[in-house]
Amino acid sequence: MFSYRHAFHAGNHADVLKHFIQVQLHKYMNQKDTAYTYIDTHAGAGVYALDSAQAVKSGEYVDGIARLWGRDDLPPALADYVNLVRTLNPSGKLRWYPGSPWVADAEARLEDRLRLFELHPADIRVLAENVRKLEAHHAEQGERARGRRILVEHADGFHGLKALLPPPSRRALVLIDPPYEVKLDYKHVRDALEEALKRFPAGMYAVWYPVLQRMESRQFPDRLKRLPAKEWLHVTLSVAGPRADGNGLHSSGMFILNPPYTLEAILRETMPYLVQVLGQDAGATFRIEKGTQVTGAVAAHSGPRQPVGNARRASPLSGGGSLRLPGQAFGDGARTRKEGEGADQRAPRAPRTEAKGAPRGPVKRNGSGRS
Ligand code: SAM
Repeated sequence: MFSYRHAFHAGNHADVLKHFIQVQLHKYMNQKDTAYTYIDTHAGAGVYALDSAQAVKSGEYVDGIARLWGRDDLPPALADYVNLVRTLNPSGKLRWYPGSPWVADAEARLEDRLRLFELHPADIRVLAENVRKLEAHHAEQGERARGRRILVEHADGFHGLKALLPPPSRRALVLIDPPYEVKLDYKHVRDALEEALKRFPAGMYAVWYPVLQRMESRQFPDRLKRLPAKEWLHVTLSVAGPRADGNGLHSSGMFILNPPYTLEAILRETMPYLVQVLGQDAGATFRIEKGTQVTGAVAAHSGPRQPVGNARRASPLSGGGSLRLPGQAFGDGARTRKEGEGADQRAPRAPRTEAKGAPRGPVKRNGSGRS
């Protein structure tokens, strides 16, 4: 049950996609004064050491964040994200990588609330310790939130989400990022979203998923498109074409329900650059599509994929700048991101902050609520 450890994957291309989008979702939420609740159903450890045994063993960050690290031509959304990673690495050497809780802490305001769920017995301890140090750091800076700003729970995030909706301020940003170790995770995500939309239709929900050959993964986006959200936006990043042996994770997606109206343009600007810089072969590509429950009319399909159900209402927006080869099926991908790691159950040397020499990482704030 607990073979997945995010420390092996921290900072890889899938994290780059997920976290650069997460930063933009926070920036959008920060534009209104009313506080919001950030809910991270699968929080992980919070911070990762890129020189830990796990990260070194997999080396995945080398083809992810490390490829962006020295660039001086980043599009604005990637500059936001890389700058956030820089706050963790003030010496300029890339050594620490922020997980989604750290990204949330850095981007959300003092009045916003962070609710973090993690089930792994080792990662929950590390997460709790990282959060304790973050809060101590805020207190030292004189940043005092009213009440508990960050709550960490050793609990199932799918259940936790249900209990938190609707949030008191009627504003929520939810990140759902399970390991997909078991195929039931796909169903759990869909079911959790269905329930969440009933309880709180106005929430912003972002789901990460691996684009794989397995049926559950291939059908997943179309299942999400049929959920009763007003709008959705779907983006995938493939850094390579599928390998003959089917191994490795080469492609992943973010599916956002009730996305910011600004996000599509940001993705259009950013994704071609990511394909160029993270792409490993001619199979590197991106795809953006969007849809709505209301208009349902735009249906300019391209490519070989035949959408079904509500997917017919989608408007695929991939293209310009994509390196996808003609005839290459969208969604062709790789295997699960946990491939080959199941045996290593050792506790990570990873996520530590100040206590073991990690920088405190000055926390960026957005002041009074306008970014
Ligand atoms: N969101 C994190 C980030 O971006 O930094 C990474 C999370 S990692 C992909 C998935 C995490 O979910 C793992 O740490 C795993 O232990 C945890 N997990 C698995 N099933 C869970 C569940 N039902 N509820 C909460 N956490 C769970």
